[in-house]
Amino acid sequence: MPRKDTSSAPNVTAADAEYMRRALQLARCGRLTAAPNPMVGAVVVADGRIIGEGYHIRPGEGHAEVNALASVSEADRALLPRSTMYVSLEPCAHYGRTPPCAELLVRSRIRRVVVGCIDPFAKVSGRGVAILREAGIDVTVGVLEDECLRLNRRFITFHSKRRPYILLKWARSADGFIDRERTGGTAARLSTPATQAEVHRLRSETEAILVGRRTWQLDSPRLDVRRWFGRAPLRCVLGRSTDIALPDDVLRADTIDSLLRELHARGVQSLLVEGGRHTLQSFIDLGLWDEAREEVAALRLGSGVPAPRMPRPADREETVWGVTVRQWEQ
Ligand SMILES: [Zn+2]
Repeated sequence: MPRKDTSSAPNVTAADAEYMRRALQLARCGRLTAAPNPMVGAVVVADGRIIGEGYHIRPGEGHAEVNALASVSEADRALLPRSTMYVSLEPCAHYGRTPPCAELLVRSRIRRVVVGCIDPFAKVSGRGVAILREAGIDVTVGVLEDECLRLNRRFITFHSKRRPYILLKWARSADGFIDRERTGGTAARLSTPATQAEVHRLRSETEAILVGRRTWQLDSPRLDVRRWFGRAPLRCVLGRSTDIALPDDVLRADTIDSLLRELHARGVQSLLVEGGRHTLQSFIDLGLWDEAREEVAALRLGSGVPAPRMPRPADREETVWGVTVRQWEQ
């Protein structure tokens, strides 16, 4: 994780936190469109008044800082030398598809910049802030830092751990089985229309989805998005066997390690692991997970394939329409 900069913490006021909260609200507007870029929001404040706001909408278009500055009216531009910009993520320092925001801020003659968190992206990390400070801009780092990091935890995990953000998901019976023991036939039905919709929503927000070879062979799952709207994730199958025919658009990997490396190389920032038990337990045992979700159905199976075991009790638990959902977060 990026280091915490507390050197400028004494400068932080209650108003700083309020404006950063507004920047976070704006950032979230990019939730469905900003990827693979991070969600970022920015607010320009002069004399206690917001004179500009913006967020990053989609890759290739203006960053939050560019959009916030562009929204400042002609009449208010004279206020920039005594204004503060609040931005949820460190301004960029590199030439990508757009010029660096750190240089734009220097040119805008803005007086102070308040940054939520440092960008872990190797080409940026700390350099955006350094450019601002070298130009004499007063920079404060780390306002609502935890919330700013949390907002982009998929992006940050991808860049700092060099692997996708991993979500594990399974459903189990009330007595602890994810399925009957079987060699064919259909899987035990543990989901409800409500949990299915939730799973399809999860899929629509995830870039890749994985099952083990055995689950693929037994269930030929479609692993698509039908009960929600949005894009279907890249389908992946884990297993050494090459004796199964896979459609061309399915990625097969021999090991978890090679799968994660391939997904990272392809720029895939999130992976949903949906089964089966052996695959899920392997990820848990390797500590390779960021979030886990277990649905506990009211149904009892009596016997069958035991559910995966997490190393500790769930962080959250809620019961909706007879299904208890347990969630873990690293
Ligand atoms: Zn930028």
